[in-house]
Amino acid sequence: MNTLTDSAAPVGNGLPTLRPEVASLPRYVPGVRAEGPDVAALASNESHFDPLPSVLRGVFSAASTLNRYPDAGSLMLRARLAEHLGATMDEVAVGPGSLGVLNQIISAFCRPGDEVIFPWRSFEAYPLVVQLAGATSVPVPLRDDESHDLNAMLAAVTEQTRVIIICTPNNPTGVPVPHSKIEEFLGLVRSDILVVIDEAYIEFATAADTPDTLALYREHPNVCLLRTFSKAYGLAGLRIGYAVASRDIAEGLRKTALPFSVSALAQEAAIASLDAQDEIRDRVNAVVKERERLLPALRAAGYNIPDSQANFLWLRCDDDAREKLVADFNAAGILVRGYARDGVRISLADAEANQGVLSLLTNQSPKLTADANLART
Ligand SMILES: *Cc1c(COP(=O)(O)O)cnc(C)c1O
Repeated sequence: MNTLTDSAAPVGNGLPTLRPEVASLPRYVPGVRAEGPDVAALASNESHFDPLPSVLRGVFSAASTLNRYPDAGSLMLRARLAEHLGATMDEVAVGPGSLGVLNQIISAFCRPGDEVIFPWRSFEAYPLVVQLAGATSVPVPLRDDESHDLNAMLAAVTEQTRVIIICTPNNPTGVPVPHSKIEEFLGLVRSDILVVIDEAYIEFATAADTPDTLALYREHPNVCLLRTFSKAYGLAGLRIGYAVASRDIAEGLRKTALPFSVSALAQEAAIASLDAQDEIRDRVNAVVKERERLLPALRAAGYNIPDSQANFLWLRCDDDAREKLVADFNAAGILVRGYARDGVRISLADAEANQGVLSLLTNQSPKLTADANLART
């Protein structure tokens, strides 16, 4: 072994080496950010509403304690969430966005070689957090009607499976998984596999068969709910999300969190948002109303768009149609999200922005309209 006084050459000649999982990690591709007020930002499923005054007051008041570390246990927020959900504090774990919580989940359950099953196309970040942990992604293609292929997901289970993710309503398709299907699925999946139900858009779901995931969780202790304040609650910039899981699991998630990763500002804003249920519900209802206006109008114009239960619409198309659509939207000052080989996702916002989307799509040349929803790949 070398010591400081040893004149021998140091061991190894290369530079510090990134773990192979990190070196080969694709960069997360975020939705394009809007520059300037005249651009409609419909690429990231954010809330288009300004923050609520009561939420801003909470944030400003928390800002006076910026010299202090936040409450590492997020005790007030967890108590408030527990009350909101009809759960106990021990069953709640928070993190910097539900993506942060998902990272806590994967690092709590997966070792190198372990497998994580998820639907695909789904949330961009799933394969990233799995790879970061050195675990193996098992993406299972959606069915032709864009729904989860739960049978194929069951068939993908192996001895190495540790986690299965269900995303309902699914991002970027907006298609939900009905309660009865998840219930059936949970009856068939091994109970030592953690089933994460990612409900980032649950507040926008109005269908009668929307899963009652808290009830499913009460029946099946291997279920973990994942929710966020980023979408319906409009706090994407503050990074705050949470999981509901059985005590031991939730405790594990709190342990794998980076200490102090949830700021006091985020904790205050989340509490103030939970206190503003009526205003949040009004905002959600406005988006749902717009969804119910645009969807039939676009279908009438010839587009094949699945029934979205979220705050966005999905247009599956081939790469040529996608590139043309994204370019046309850009030229019209509307930012949307294109996915290679899959299609275009358009977030819903205020009536004016949505009208811009509707006009652009209904004025497309007939050829693109007819070909827009080309066969899935
Ligand atoms: C947006 C989104 C999230 C994560 O959002 P956070 O901002 O990290 O809370 C998680 N899952 C899905 C499906 C999403 O679309």
